[in-house]
Amino acid sequence: CGIVGYIGKNDSKEILLKGLEKLEYRGYDSAGIAVKNENGVHVFKEKGRIADLRKIVDENVAASIGIGHTRWATHGVPSQINAHPHQSTTGRFTLVHNGVIENYDLLKREYLKDASFVSETDTEVIVQLIELFVNEGLEVIDAFRKTLTLLKGSYALALLDAGNNETIFVAKNKSPLLVGLGTDFNVVASDAMAMLQVTDQYVELMDKEIVLVTKDHVTIQNLNGDIINRQPYTAELDA
Ligand code: GLU
Repeated sequence: CGIVGYIGKNDSKEILLKGLEKLEYRGYDSAGIAVKNENGVHVFKEKGRIADLRKIVDENVAASIGIGHTRWATHGVPSQINAHPHQSTTGRFTLVHNGVIENYDLLKREYLKDASFVSETDTEVIVQLIELFVNEGLEVIDAFRKTLTLLKGSYALALLDAGNNETIFVAKNKSPLLVGLGTDFNVVASDAMAMLQVTDQYVELMDKEIVLVTKDHVTIQNLNGDIINRQPYTAELDA
């Protein structure tokens, strides 16, 4: 399983699909991508191989922001509905997640009694919590931070906000995740191999950091909101 993300000027679909193919070795039972353009967020997901996903991705949708996922099911059977990305009730937030949220059931009962869920995944709780806290009045970054403080377990996350054309929100805990740096674009990946096709410059992320990725900047902060400066390194792998 693994996640990828791209934000830049070019169409993101092929970069995401190629990245997911490079992550196939990690194992998966389904895969999906969400891409965002001026018309909104478009989700394509399918049970099976990346080749099966390719067949359902609409070639005519061009979008320079996107996230992708290969799933190794832990909560809910492998199916099109349980495949990632997952969306909040209004569709404003779209999320991919690797890992396991151990307290998802508790969080569901405590905060989300009124929410309706479409999948059986632990992941859907995360994206619904973010929407709940935004509906309660928090800024998206604060809703994201608050949600992270509630989660117990492992995660690599990439989040799109339909109301934001500039940012992918990223965080990790006990699951690998890197940001890759480009000129006029940046990427997110579970491992460097997935994005060597576009860059060999990577920034390591630490657990429970909040990372805002735009096409020109990567801003890392801790849960207190302190900005963290970290130098990139050059990945030396054969693509
Ligand atoms: N726990 C999540 C699920 O079952 C993510 C699994 C994964 O890491 O692929 O959907």
